[in-house]
Amino acid sequence: EALNKILDIKGTIRVFCRVRPFQLTDKKIIHEPISVGSEKVVVRSGGSRKEFGFDKVFPQEASQEDVFVEAEPILKSALDGYNVCILAYGQTGTGKTFTMDGTNDQPGIVLRALKELFLQASLDNSASFTFSMSMLEVYMGNLRDLLAPKPSCRSYEAISRCNLNIQTDPKGLVEIEGLTEVQIPDFAKASWWYTKGRRVRSTSWTSVNEASSRSHCLTRITIFRRGNVTGVEEEVSKLWMVDLGGSERLLKTGATGLTLDEGRAINLSLSALADVIAALRRKRGHVPYRNSKLTQILKDSLGRVLQLSSLVMVY
Ligand code: ADP
Ligand code: MG
Repeated sequence: EALNKILDIKGTIRVFCRVRPFQLTDKKIIHEPISVGSEKVVVRSGGSRKEFGFDKVFPQEASQEDVFVEAEPILKSALDGYNVCILAYGQTGTGKTFTMDGTNDQPGIVLRALKELFLQASLDNSASFTFSMSMLEVYMGNLRDLLAPKPSCRSYEAISRCNLNIQTDPKGLVEIEGLTEVQIPDFAKASWWYTKGRRVRSTSWTSVNEASSRSHCLTRITIFRRGNVTGVEEEVSKLWMVDLGGSERLLKTGATGLTLDEGRAINLSLSALADVIAALRRKRGHVPYRNSKLTQILKDSLGRVLQLSSLVMVY
């Protein structure tokens, strides 16, 4: 049964939907309520009815732990040497940041994943592990190093000067030249760096009109695995955890000027991501990674054979 489950999951992209609780600030736009099944969501508006299928739907009562349980097999893959990716997709306000970051009381996927990685690594007698972390933001096609030691390189103004180049080596592995990579010896240190990176992101954006929803925030954990058998090379794998920019349509936001450009950049990269995922799901043909910085960065972690990826979808 366990093997069947693994075979079922391996090499595929899984898509989950999390429905967040209704909030007082929500407009009452839902006349006829959506119905939520365990694997589908049905939306009715006017006379039309739309059905969306998922690997699993989390109802609004679902806890952070319930959601995290579904991410755990991916962490196992990451420790086994595969490059993997967890993405939160959805409109602004749907709960992407809550799902990835969470709160002090209800930590999200990233901190839970870090805790689990250290735990699993300590339980594995056949290999020893070390971990490092990088965090970056992609905003209008530019990359910002959120853990850069120099404040001048972390700032919003510096985003176009940071000069982080995305390179692909002959083996097809992606490297971001110049991106800060910090050692994380234990969970406490990992959590400290993560909090620091998130703070760099949020504080610099307050002056720029909530623009953080028009940028992608990416956290990369690099895993170095050394088996106990001598002579075997160290294995390196990556776990990406991504809080994507808001997927709202431009028309709806009625934005102009800078925000319009920002919206365009986000739309462009999200549709590039969707194109890549669609091509990967078809399992054949050309995969158009080159169309955005986002897909270039995630190239070796979205589509390698036998690798396990996941897409957390927030509705
Ligand atoms: P996004 O990052 O997609 O723009 P947020 O994560 O900021 O959305 O969520 C919007 C608001 O809804 C926040 O105040 C957040 O705390 C709250 N929220 C989202 N999901 C949940 C949930 N599952 N349970 C409780 N509150 C939630
Ligand atoms: Mg957010």
